[in-house]
Amino acid sequence: MLTNRQLFLQHLGQTSSAPMMLEIVSAKGIYMYGPSGERYMDLISGVSVSNTGHGHPRVVEAVRNQVDLYMHLMVYGEIIQSPQVKYAERLTEFLPPDLSSCYFVNSGSEAVEGGLKLAKRFTGRSRIISFKNCYHGSTHGALSLQGSELYKNAFRPLLPDTFQVDFNNVKSLDFIDSKTACVIVEPVQGEAGIIYPENDFLLKLRERCTLTGTLLIFDEIQTGFGRLGHMFAINRFGVVPDILLLAKALGGGMPLGAFISSTEIMSALVSNPPLGHISTFGGHPVCCAAGLAALNVIVDEKLAENCNPKSDLFKNELSHKLISEVRGEGLLMAVKLSNKAYIPYVISHAPELGLVLDYFLFCDNAFRIAPPLIITEAEIAEACGLLKKLLDDAEKNVKIR
Ligand code: PLP
Repeated sequence: MLTNRQLFLQHLGQTSSAPMMLEIVSAKGIYMYGPSGERYMDLISGVSVSNTGHGHPRVVEAVRNQVDLYMHLMVYGEIIQSPQVKYAERLTEFLPPDLSSCYFVNSGSEAVEGGLKLAKRFTGRSRIISFKNCYHGSTHGALSLQGSELYKNAFRPLLPDTFQVDFNNVKSLDFIDSKTACVIVEPVQGEAGIIYPENDFLLKLRERCTLTGTLLIFDEIQTGFGRLGHMFAINRFGVVPDILLLAKALGGGMPLGAFISSTEIMSALVSNPPLGHISTFGGHPVCCAAGLAALNVIVDEKLAENCNPKSDLFKNELSHKLISEVRGEGLLMAVKLSNKAYIPYVISHAPELGLVLDYFLFCDNAFRIAPPLIITEAEIAEACGLLKKLLDDAEKNVKIR
């Protein structure tokens, strides 16, 4: 009989020659467990998804209750489904008044597609601007925006009239003009290695978009739901977009995305043509129930407020000869090492010490730390002790030329 490991390689489509290959049979809180009881501390949250930890009892209960009532009923937008309505109402309480209309979809990439279509439809323009080293997803439209040729060149032709300009360079904003439908930006660039906007860049971007009638889209798929120490980056930077994109932690561990705008802008999808975006499973009721429960946990357990003190703990503990910088606020951090040659060793050997870490797509000299926001002070101390041991091992075993 083949093992799960063999079956994984034989029957699941692979996109990497070196997948992590950890077999997990259960997960609780910040830990994931292997078949022989191995325990791994999850320091990446399934890439910024499990903000309330694995299997939070309130999220699990919400899922169970909703499964008992109903699962899929009808394609998005026809039947009044109480989990969608309740979640949209609660979510928009945390957003500025102009972000009051939520279109729920299945994933981050679909939220990006919906946001782009909405901007084109509302403005009647086609040009889309994004930033170098951005990441907005892997579908054709989202891939067209990507700020790195590496992952997109082989899939051309992609969406026409898309341009990438420099993040944090005010001069690049001159490129936004009356032909531009939208500019899409991660308020903090994630896959670029946690790059913050400098010198009011987001404010200037907002001003230029307003001046040219261009819609500003914030992709908060990775930064949302408390991860930066605020519920959303909108609160951190005080800049309000025309369209907000959410996913990842939005579903509390279930697949869910959303593009959110004003009722006026959103109404552009209703006519000429009608059904401007169609999604069979968008806003699945079980996912919305899970997301609502997770959002309430974030609020009730003050997870966003406690994020920065926890980030400070990591930063205080993480002093090591190999670490040249720990970048980022809240629990979205990039640990930069003195030489990028250490990174593959550190990430691939982390599980041997009971840690799960990950790469950034466009930053090869740092690794990611983005644990569930429920991580405790004692767990942070333990994680940092193990990380330092891992770095000692890397120093011993990696030959630097
Ligand atoms: N936007 C950002 C900022 C992301 O980090 C991601 C995923 O990593 C996406 C969009 C795409 O989301 P998904 O993988 O759910 O399609």
